[in-house]
Amino acid sequence: METILLLAHTEGDGSLARSAREALRGAATLHKSLADSKLVMGLVGENVQAAANSIAACSASKYYGVVGKDFSQARYATDAAAAEAICKTAQATLVFAPATSRWNRVLPGVAQRLGGHADTHVTGVSASGDKVTVNRWYYRQRMEAVLQWAQRPWFILIDPGSQTPCQCVGGSAAVEKVTVTLPDSAKRTTVIGIREPKADAQTIRPDARLLFVTGAGWTKKQADGQTHVPEAEKLIRDFLQLSRASLGSSKSLVDQSGEGQAILSFLSHLNQIGQTGATPRHQKGLSTCCHGEEPHTVGWRFVAERRAINLDPNCGWARGKADVLYVADAFAVMGKVNELLAVKK
Ligand SMILES: Cc1cc2nc3c(=O)[nH]c(=O)nc-3n(C[C@H](O)[C@H](O)[C@H](O)COP(=O)(O)OP(=O)(O)OC[C@H]3O[C@@H](n4cnc5c(N)ncnc54)[C@H](O)[C@@H]3O)c2cc1C
Repeated sequence: METILLLAHTEGDGSLARSAREALRGAATLHKSLADSKLVMGLVGENVQAAANSIAACSASKYYGVVGKDFSQARYATDAAAAEAICKTAQATLVFAPATSRWNRVLPGVAQRLGGHADTHVTGVSASGDKVTVNRWYYRQRMEAVLQWAQRPWFILIDPGSQTPCQCVGGSAAVEKVTVTLPDSAKRTTVIGIREPKADAQTIRPDARLLFVTGAGWTKKQADGQTHVPEAEKLIRDFLQLSRASLGSSKSLVDQSGEGQAILSFLSHLNQIGQTGATPRHQKGLSTCCHGEEPHTVGWRFVAERRAINLDPNCGWARGKADVLYVADAFAVMGKVNELLAVKK
């Protein structure tokens, strides 16, 4: 019999992140299809009652919590101690957690301590009889593997964005406290602050429906023989403000900053989509002034509906990479789109 544990930490305001609800969906779905399995929750944070209450209507039979100020911040030593204690108390055999940077770096170590196995970046879980199978991608999302392990506990870290979040409603949950005694050495690291871009400079929005990709064409000489970078910058900025899309880029465009050329000031390597960039999950994608070469479009694997605007009818997008290719000047198209969006607002 499998004991399925959903492991989550609370956010700064005591709530559960969407990624935790996605992992919960994976755990609860597996619980339904695995006969004789048990689903339990393990929560870590300064105070976990509100988080437990927020998912009280789910099918978990028990809630465990490691609570206290020492567990409010992301820190390897305390997160690992908390996870280890909950796993042991719950006697978990399958441990689900969101594949956030916090859990991804901690849980493989906990698996090692418990003699188990960990898979990060899991995108699918299923059961056939009593056999559990997970899916994950390798080689920059080019190959999908289907894996089974006999080893327990098996830590399954669910990639954020790959599941529909669990919609279970709230109620009142009884949380059993799990005591963890920390040595002083576990508290040496302290988070003294968080540096992040200002809200309006934050262009990467994983929850946006649309991914808007900019390519090097925005900075190239146009039909009049001139570059129009300030104009490009304004069109892109206006579009992002009006649409709240997430901003992606080709490698060529983000690399230009390193080569001392005119660039769009709000782009960084974090925006890069592709083989050496990100593989985000958005319902729709619109590529502009980007050629659509394979090392770039491999990062579009999880974007469902794809459109591109390019002056070149023979660009990569025309070769089966996009559902719709507009052979047009992106400056003109995006200018018109912004006008229409502004009227709609
Ligand atoms: C090992 C390796 C890894 C790589 N990893 C990545 C990666 O992760 N991500 C990535 O993006 N690339 C990656 N690349 C690079 C990739 O092969 C391409 O060089 C890059 O994606 C090209 O960027 P681009 O399409 O923006 O620029 P370009 O190829 O210069 O294309 C610009 C496009 O803009 C169009 N254009 C110009 N003006 C307009 C206009 N007014 N309206 C409409 N269209 C216009 C042009 O027709 C042209 O198609 C990698 C390459 C290698 C070798």
